[in-house]
Amino acid sequence: MVPHPTRARTKDPALRSYPFPYTAWLVLSNDPDNTLYADWQELDRVIWNEIGLPFADSLFFRSYNKNLPDQVDLFGHPEILNKHPHDTIHTWGDYLFGGSRGFERDDAVRLVDQAKTLHFKPRVWVDHSTFAGNLLHHHPYGSMPEINDASGHKYPNPLYSLDLIQEIGVRYIWDGTIIPTLGQDRPLPWLTYHLERTGSRKQAVVNLAKHKVGEVMGVGAGFRAQFKDNAAYRPHRFPDGRMFYTFQRHGQWQKADIDGLGDILAPSRIDRLIATGGVCIAYTHLGKRPAGRMGDRQHIPNRTRQGLQHLRERHIERKVMLSPLSHLLDYLVLRDNITVDLKNKGILFHADGIAFSSVDQKTLAGHTFSIRSQGITPEQWVVKGTEGRLTPRIEQNDSRCATLHFDL
Ligand SMILES: [Zn+2]
Repeated sequence: MVPHPTRARTKDPALRSYPFPYTAWLVLSNDPDNTLYADWQELDRVIWNEIGLPFADSLFFRSYNKNLPDQVDLFGHPEILNKHPHDTIHTWGDYLFGGSRGFERDDAVRLVDQAKTLHFKPRVWVDHSTFAGNLLHHHPYGSMPEINDASGHKYPNPLYSLDLIQEIGVRYIWDGTIIPTLGQDRPLPWLTYHLERTGSRKQAVVNLAKHKVGEVMGVGAGFRAQFKDNAAYRPHRFPDGRMFYTFQRHGQWQKADIDGLGDILAPSRIDRLIATGGVCIAYTHLGKRPAGRMGDRQHIPNRTRQGLQHLRERHIERKVMLSPLSHLLDYLVLRDNITVDLKNKGILFHADGIAFSSVDQKTLAGHTFSIRSQGITPEQWVVKGTEGRLTPRIEQNDSRCATLHFDL
């Protein structure tokens, strides 16, 4: 029986947060807006080939945007899909400023078929600007099967496609917010949270006071609702009853281009992330540059390139884990649904019911989990999933830690 959670589980204390010896994990969450093909080629060459970072990318199936006639999409450039990994769709396409070419559900029906033909299984959905079919960013029309008017009339909603988003394979949805705090998936005292959010000690103290007083007096729920915990993902029930996970992205709205990425990935910040620990889902538009720099031959500025190279070095030193966004989110969900029975030397993987309906050897392929082994030797562990016994390769890292490798 698969559980139907309404809130995220928490990690078993016997598990390390991340595979040994990593303390931090960083992924890119790129939106493909404004990307010109020549710049796409430079990004592919530098990030995925020359520097060789194991990130996944996002794409538009189709762009109808008349303001950006040369914006890269899968329709115009089918070769992009397999040049480097893609795990995210930036909605069903760019229908903004598309003239008479508006979006409707039939477009999504067709695109699900096309994705199946291409063996493309995106696991992440990111809302785009004010797209009519968005789920959480600006409005929820894409998630509402019906529209009700004030006089009680009900109409089928031609913008609804959440069932098709699930059918295409999506399990994780951006919640429409950006978090300035560096390092999610770690406990964060409220004062630190408000300090990092506001950047001002005075404002942080005011916010914290409002927060605490509001909590006691039962007022200001709207204010308090703006401040979430520091979780990397959360279960979310949509108006049609479907459950997905949502996630926030780290960054700043005004730094979400290829130049701003140099600030977000500055070596000092990455080293701070490694020191404090936690997860960073870095928000960016790799294909976008400041308007004043459109004449430059080089798309990626040196500072951003240096940040990416520094990331690579820290990854090779096994300080910061890098991966596709979907791999990180899958890891966190799987990790938080493990129970460790030290007495019986058992490690049990449970299905969470949203991202996974079962957990077997195939589900876990490519994943690694580390456990505080408390003197238990690798051959003593009994590891089970929902379909029975699992056979990871278990490596003893030191006297206190062992790592389960589910090799591809
Ligand atoms: Zn966008």
